Amino acid sequence: MSHVPLPSQSVLTVDLGAIVANYRLLRSRLTGAECAVVVKADAYGLGAIRVAPALAAAGARHFFVAQLGEALEIRDVLPPETRIYVLNGMLPGEAEEFRARGVVPVLNDLGQIEAWSREAQRSGRKLPATLHFDTGMSRLGLSNGEADRLIAGPRHLEHIEVAIVMSHLACADEPGHPLNASQRDAFASRRRAFPQVPASLANSSGIFLGPQYHFDLARPGCALYGINPTPGHPNPVGQVARLSGKILQIRDVDPPKTVGYGATHRVTATTRVATIAAGYADGWLRSLSNRGSAYFGDLRVPIVGRVSMDLITLDVSSAPQIKVGDTVELMGDRLPVDDVAAKAGTIGYEVLTRLGRRFARVYVDLPAST
Ligand SMILES: *Cc1c(COP(=O)(O)O)cnc(C)c1O
Repeated sequence: MSHVPLPSQSVLTVDLGAIVANYRLLRSRLTGAECAVVVKADAYGLGAIRVAPALAAAGARHFFVAQLGEALEIRDVLPPETRIYVLNGMLPGEAEEFRARGVVPVLNDLGQIEAWSREAQRSGRKLPATLHFDTGMSRLGLSNGEADRLIAGPRHLEHIEVAIVMSHLACADEPGHPLNASQRDAFASRRRAFPQVPASLANSSGIFLGPQYHFDLARPGCALYGINPTPGHPNPVGQVARLSGKILQIRDVDPPKTVGYGATHRVTATTRVATIAAGYADGWLRSLSNRGSAYFGDLRVPIVGRVSMDLITLDVSSAPQIKVGDTVELMGDRLPVDDVAAKAGTIGYEVLTRLGRRFARVYVDLPAST
């Protein structure tokens, strides 16, 4: 869905080469484990149709999404031997579609296991599934009681080919959190009932908790897309998404005028204000009002006034040469996604997944910079 940007459009550039380089880096941190990839939420907002095939070409064979619809979007652009797993599981009425489209459900409770087993019997062959055990997230996955019943009565799985057993860490980005070791131990004990089946626990941050967390298959998402999996430490992965904002108008604002809705920014001296084609409808969060910034070359230019639906306003007084049609960096090397998120009071995941559909999207494959 890349297209040629219109002159008035801001441009989101996605570097597929950087995603592949990040994938290789994550793979190199794994001790004997394989590296799956998480491409849910349209590859964290960056475009699964483009991102997933690039990762397949780099050797990824296991793709995790959240929803069946997301799996169907990428099924035909991935080689047939790759497997796509749906983390959200399967509710009644969906089993047939999973089977017909060759998508593997992550089974999160005994009812889902039962439904998948019936579908297998109907189709006359074993069907693959991932089993998810809850070890402390209390969100999806078999509870302890259900897991005990499942393991005590293996007939539940007679018609199912258990492809992966998995669990998910709640605090992997806090290495000192006691829940990490507790979840790992609980998972290690569950997986003992499935000695032949590949086990998967680590998300991006989990990879950096060390080899005891790697098991057989890691499932990184955020780090593929440039988000730092080791908060508080240097980012081991490279930036992937660059957002360049288009300047639509420039004006000089004299005191005592104000800028934008609510008149929240009052100028104290004549101020040059540039209006940019990006607003909260494009995912540029309203919490960046009077807090965020952009770069014009090496100059930092702050957001002044509120972020509105389609526009933001920048104080560009320090850049007298700036003109309509120029671009400013809203996210990129000078403004990594995590820094934008910190200013907005959120996490990089939210910044990326909210990136809007009105930006022109350009996919590049740049040679690795490191
Ligand atoms: C989203 C998700 C991941 C990927 O997590 P990151 O923190 O983005 O690496 C892995 N496993 C499950 C179950 C998830 O929901």
